[in-house]
Amino acid sequence: MNKMIMTIMCAAAVITPLASAVTPVPDEVSCAVADRQDFQQPDCVHLTGWISSRIEANEKNRLVKMDPNRLLISYRKRPGGQEWDGEHVGKWLHAATLAWVNTGDPELRKKLDYTATELVKCQLADGYLGTYTDNNRWTDWDVWAHKYSLLGLVTYIRHTGNMELLPACRKLADLLCNTFGDEPGKRDIVAGHHVGMAPGSVLEPMVLLFRLTGEPRYLDFAKYMLRAYEQPNGPKIVSRLLELKRVDKVGNGKAYEMLSCINGILEMYRTTGDPKLLEACRNAWQDIIDKRLYITGAASYGETFHDDYDLPNGSNMGETCVTVTWLQFNAQLLRLTGEARFAEQLERVVLNQLFGAQKPDGSAWGYYVQMEGTKPYRGSIDGHCCLSSGPRGVALIPTFASSVDADGVVVNLYDAGTVKLTLRDGKPVVLTTETTYPSDGKIVITVDPESSARFTFKARIPAWCRESSMKLNGKTVKAKTGVDG
Ligand SMILES: [Zn+2]
Repeated sequence: MNKMIMTIMCAAAVITPLASAVTPVPDEVSCAVADRQDFQQPDCVHLTGWISSRIEANEKNRLVKMDPNRLLISYRKRPGGQEWDGEHVGKWLHAATLAWVNTGDPELRKKLDYTATELVKCQLADGYLGTYTDNNRWTDWDVWAHKYSLLGLVTYIRHTGNMELLPACRKLADLLCNTFGDEPGKRDIVAGHHVGMAPGSVLEPMVLLFRLTGEPRYLDFAKYMLRAYEQPNGPKIVSRLLELKRVDKVGNGKAYEMLSCINGILEMYRTTGDPKLLEACRNAWQDIIDKRLYITGAASYGETFHDDYDLPNGSNMGETCVTVTWLQFNAQLLRLTGEARFAEQLERVVLNQLFGAQKPDGSAWGYYVQMEGTKPYRGSIDGHCCLSSGPRGVALIPTFASSVDADGVVVNLYDAGTVKLTLRDGKPVVLTTETTYPSDGKIVITVDPESSARFTFKARIPAWCRESSMKLNGKTVKAKTGVDG
């Protein structure tokens, strides 16, 4: 397929807007940088096409089937069976919350409530919520697991409104603030795995918690994190991306941990507006696109970024954790800049590498997923970071498939289904898409505003598409082409 035919139908009838069941808890602190594209609550997005079949399989055969007692085992009986086993529960909470917002599945909600509440019950009196014994605290992957617990709990609280668990998040964050820092007597947070990029990725949930609570000490901690990156023993994430513009020269080049830090840096940029942070992240993106990306959207082999164009077709390429953090990186940049180039990479990575790593029935995932040969699907999370990462990537798709910007509506990813959008002036618009994309290039979208409205309709023309045409209410129209593809 290299052709795309899009038909836009404008509905005249007054529609009944779909009910939005979930209103996220608002942040106490507003961001310095307004998003160019508003990302959507997954309950406003009801896809029914091929992409949707993968989202549904992710919820029904993976997320809802996960045993909460397995997720909690290392917290209930310290130390855990494996050094980073504590990461899985937070990753599941993040993915399962988004999936529940999308489907409203009561069984999943019950598991979410149980798992979040039981996790908090494992917190010690001083706020510690890890899987290590007292004498081994803050060694190996202890901060990393705290990062995911905080990320999962904040996501759960924001979408369910269960504020009873917020004090536990504060206690956890306060313990980190009291333990790590560059004042005398505190521990050095980057004295950890992968030149500090593993513990350093706690930046992202700390910034989210700052915005949710308005507590200044969490912003101070985030500022400390950025200073710590640049310490003599640190990974030099921002400075090297500004000066050398190469991700393989940052820290030890470990892709999953680095991209996790970069996603936190972008959250910090959204919060504070420091343009150097965005510039550093854009440099990382461009470097990956130009020299370190496989055709499928996989972004590393052996879990690490390598020299220019060093992209062998080996069996250790495409770690799914890297696939998902690369997806998040592009989604962040799309929200912040509104540029279609990031949506283009989202399509590439979702349709090829992410779905290539997911077993079609959703029950299992590949860790490394090479471009040819047998798919190495596995079901158990034991020792497999990627098996709790893959479901996060799939659960995020409804948040960016369609969107709204200052001009009107934007379609980033094509799939059949119905999306209820709210324009910036508060007017609802429903988009109903009929298509079998990506197996066919014909896309029919009915645009149904609740009341008379004038706005721009933006649709992404994929880079692979050599010929595209657009009809509006049956008449061929010449669409204006954007400059940012
Ligand atoms: Zn992994």
